[in-house]
Amino acid sequence: MKIIYEPRFNYQLGLLKYLHPFDGEKFSKVITELDSLNIEIIHPVGPVSPVMINEYLNELMRKLVLSKTLVFRALEVPKIPFVSFDFLDNKILLPMRLAVAGTLLGAENTLSSGDIMWNLSGGFHHASNVNMEGFCIYNDIGISYQQLRKNGQLSETDKVLIIDVDAHHGNGNAYSFKDNVNVHLLDVYNADIYPTSDFTRNRVNFPVPLKSGVEGHEYLDKLNQALKLLKADYALAFIIAGTDVLAVDKLGGFKLTVEDVAEREKLILSHLKNLEIPTVVTGGGGYSKQSASAIAAAIKACSEL
Ligand SMILES: [Zn+2]
Repeated sequence: MKIIYEPRFNYQLGLLKYLHPFDGEKFSKVITELDSLNIEIIHPVGPVSPVMINEYLNELMRKLVLSKTLVFRALEVPKIPFVSFDFLDNKILLPMRLAVAGTLLGAENTLSSGDIMWNLSGGFHHASNVNMEGFCIYNDIGISYQQLRKNGQLSETDKVLIIDVDAHHGNGNAYSFKDNVNVHLLDVYNADIYPTSDFTRNRVNFPVPLKSGVEGHEYLDKLNQALKLLKADYALAFIIAGTDVLAVDKLGGFKLTVEDVAEREKLILSHLKNLEIPTVVTGGGGYSKQSASAIAAAIKACSEL
């Protein structure tokens, strides 16, 4: 296994961080917690290019992406006069473009080496080629898929699996791949919260809708049942390992512990390893104070796979 990390993944918001309940520097904290672990860390060479992003977006989005109001809304940051677009671009969008490059790097590497690649950031599953929302601007998995098809690492008929265990339903991926029968989605999500679109929920091939308040044992049991339905015929798997399933998280509505998150990632990765599917893990949501510890515990639990 290799970790994908860049110091600039962190959202360094200065005083603005008091407006949002999240820990924007969790990525550096994960690296600190992994200090004693002998694990290789690789870095994307730079942010994904605007050309790649433009290639992915539909025509209307290419125009709308220039609309600063849309970006402010998608980032859920109140539009404040003293916060300039350039500030947001530098502090939030640039880290996100680096994260997209990290997911693409992870996918390229796992396809050529078979090693599990773990991107600490990315997993922006509410963004699509036609929309940005829910703190997701660029659909890193969609952009990566498009580039892998272009560079020949994936063919039109190669099957790709997306396992989304962030607490929220991955509406952006479901919409982006709505017409691609070779991309399958397994989504474990809180059905009581955003996003509630039946159109995208119905696109999920292996849905695991759960209720608010679900604890670790039930969550892991239902996930395990869904994993058993998977066959070995995928060329590549993406995982969205959101830590907003933690009980301390204010948004996710589940009651998992740090140990449950570590167990979850181990369950998924050992399953995919048995099926010999190249895998890239992405971070997803979850910015509570326990988020970094849960990610570090999960990486430690999986490091021997
Ligand atoms: Zn989430």
